Amino acid sequence: MTLPRPEHTDDDALTDSLSGSDTIVSYPRGDTANTGVVLHVAELAPDAAGTPRWAVLLDTSSCHPVDAGWPDQGADRAVLHVAGGERPVVDCVVAATDGTELHLGSDIPVRKGTPGWAFLVAHIVDDASGIAEGDRVELVVDADYRRAVSLGHSGCHLAALALNRALAGRWSKETRTDGLGQPDFDASAIDSSRIGEFGSVDTYRLNKSLRRKGFDTEGLAGELPALEAAINATLAEWVAGDAPIRIDADGPRLTDRRSWVCELPEGTVSIPCGGTHAHSLAELGETRVALSLDEADGTPVLTMTTAVGGR
Ligand SMILES: [Zn+2]
Repeated sequence: MTLPRPEHTDDDALTDSLSGSDTIVSYPRGDTANTGVVLHVAELAPDAAGTPRWAVLLDTSSCHPVDAGWPDQGADRAVLHVAGGERPVVDCVVAATDGTELHLGSDIPVRKGTPGWAFLVAHIVDDASGIAEGDRVELVVDADYRRAVSLGHSGCHLAALALNRALAGRWSKETRTDGLGQPDFDASAIDSSRIGEFGSVDTYRLNKSLRRKGFDTEGLAGELPALEAAINATLAEWVAGDAPIRIDADGPRLTDRRSWVCELPEGTVSIPCGGTHAHSLAELGETRVALSLDEADGTPVLTMTTAVGGR
């Protein structure tokens, strides 16, 4: 494991980090530990239970933060090893600042890439004793939990491609296509995606605008068992093919654009993604989906639950 070394730990580094330089992140390449320099410790409002909280900002982080903009993959579990002992990271979130105030999660008032703003990994702790600016600390991520979530995330992307394939015949008009040239139902209808250990739950809204784009929902409920079977057959074939997975990144910082790239036999697929992943499809093991159709506020909602590793 090679980690970028900070060039300086004086006030310049702090000023840089809080006014335009995003956190360097090493979790996309699979790292689960790093040494970081503490750039800033911000006291936060206590949580709902009255527990005090602080946000610890490091120059570099191997801890995956939840992104309030698209919270599909949650926070890693991690511990900060500091001079005085261990400080559990109770949450890890994307934060942003223009150098005056730290904004966390959904309170961030600007888009990523806004000039003058830095986007940062905020390690939330309920005990910041022994953590001071300029300190060098060790960040250690729970590797077993990370691996389980990474497998779930790769399974989520793969299942979405298999779902697109199974639903391709329901499109009557030209529409956007995925990396395999199939109509991209996933991107057109996705409402929410939640990735957990060894699996994911994705919901799709089959609303009027989707139907106007040419997607036919007629008889879908009765077809669910056949669709599941078709998706599971595609997934079995792809997992057996053991295609490599990699993350392509425009750069090493939190907001640099990253993509999940998988070299399937039918073609190489690239999907924008800020998460963590397996290195090849065989790691997923038996991957299966279950589909259900419900209704929310009068709109049909398709839910796909994906499980990897034969779970
Ligand atoms: Zn993703």
